Amino acid sequence: MLIAGNWKLFKGPHEARRFAIEIRHLPTRAAGVEIVVCPPFVSIEAAVQGLGEGSDVRVYAQNVHWELEGAFTGEVSAPMLIEVGATGTIVGHSERRQYFGETDDTVRLRAEAALEAGLHVIACVGETEAQREADQTEDVLARQVAVLPVHERLVIAYEPVWAIGTGKTATPETAQEAHAFIKSLHETRVLYGGSVKPENAKVLLAQKDVDGALVGGGCLDALSFEAICLAAAEV
Ligand code: PEP
Repeated sequence: MLIAGNWKLFKGPHEARRFAIEIRHLPTRAAGVEIVVCPPFVSIEAAVQGLGEGSDVRVYAQNVHWELEGAFTGEVSAPMLIEVGATGTIVGHSERRQYFGETDDTVRLRAEAALEAGLHVIACVGETEAQREADQTEDVLARQVAVLPVHERLVIAYEPVWAIGTGKTATPETAQEAHAFIKSLHETRVLYGGSVKPENAKVLLAQKDVDGALVGGGCLDALSFEAICLAAAEV
């Protein structure tokens, strides 16, 4: 079971360090759960330092560029992430697809570069509300999954766009159905993302093909994040 907290555009270095100190021993209480936090780029190093050497909590980035270096203003490369202590990265988050022009092609390039550099990857896929209503969910998922490499360090996060940050959660049955479909296309673990909270984590994580969660809003408060990780340990 893997629980990853996506901090989005929250927590600068100071807050990141404080939060990391609070959760550094969480893995000993949430036995068997891999725990990951994904701070903004500038807070990665502070989170790593706050966790300290003995912690099993891992720090991933929220994005990565595919080139190692060059004239790419505003981008960060995999070796740079490794230098500050990140061991993985999210790619293809729906907010990147919606607001920053991310395409299936750029998601593929980012995933490939991250894997090549030795990073772990959480690759996000998911349909919008309009696509679900038009009965296009499977087509969209198939297209997004098709570009992703099969690799032991890559997991997919199924994040229906209509459930992200909206408080609307997929029913456990809807999540299970989408996860089973993704697994029929790609040999991988599949995390669920979309308004996961301490109150709904257990029932979602109990689904047969749900192998963990990518959590946004529910991971920003240490007690809430801990409760989700502890729920995962009980499943
Ligand atoms: C996310 O950011 O990946 C996410 C699932 O957000 P939330 O939990 O807030 O819906």
